Amino acid sequence: MKLTVVGCAGSYPSPTSAASCYLLAGDDAVIVLDMGNGSLGALLAHTHPTALDAVFISHMHADHCVDLTALYVLLKHGPHRRSTPLPVFGPAGLHQRIAAAYNGDARTDLSDVFEFKVLAAQRAVALGANTHVTPVVVDHPGESYGFRVEMGNKVLAYSGDSAECEALVALARDADIALFEASFVEPADNQPPLPTGLHMSAGMAAHIAQRAHAKSLLLTHTVQWNEFEGGHDRELAEAVARFAGPVALAVPGMVVTA
Ligand SMILES: [Zn+2]
Ligand SMILES: [Zn+2]
Repeated sequence: MKLTVVGCAGSYPSPTSAASCYLLAGDDAVIVLDMGNGSLGALLAHTHPTALDAVFISHMHADHCVDLTALYVLLKHGPHRRSTPLPVFGPAGLHQRIAAAYNGDARTDLSDVFEFKVLAAQRAVALGANTHVTPVVVDHPGESYGFRVEMGNKVLAYSGDSAECEALVALARDADIALFEASFVEPADNQPPLPTGLHMSAGMAAHIAQRAHAKSLLLTHTVQWNEFEGGHDRELAEAVARFAGPVALAVPGMVVTA
């Protein structure tokens, strides 16, 4: 299993990263998890979308799905076309949302380029013999999923956007890579507590990964406004304190092989 971090900026693109997008390649499938703002351009540095077997969208916030509109333009009008529509798995209503974002006048429903498929919780999607993607409902506004991706005997657990919740423990059980969001920094003693039902701090992500016995933790969806002296060292320090295994910060272009 080869993971390429395409975009890892939380909530909106940063000066150095597109919003959420991850390329995963196994022996028999190549997939993308999420296509946030700015991610198509970054993805093209690593592959051409004609090579993809499927795209999975965790939820319908723009920083996870809106560059499907850009991908439509490329696959519809570019010189390289697909022989069959690209399967796009996501929450109910994704098809209508992306069609509206693309043109707003219903001249196309995008089905000439995309085959939209609605995810169902815990129902694994099989791609080839050795690739399975299981959507798990997580704690975030709207219909929001994390994905447990199995490629051969390797497992990547992607939190999508989620608050700290028990579903994430099951999602990441014994995973080789826990790709967890770290949108928040823990507040100082005199600051108000973090909002509930939205996101995790890096410390929360690490605590969940530890409970799940994940083998490694990759922090992502770090938010630009939390940068401290140009980096995310505070998130990294929070996570290292609560996770016994290796921890890293996702950066664009990073490749992790499990
Ligand atoms: Zn997000
Ligand atoms: Zn979100």
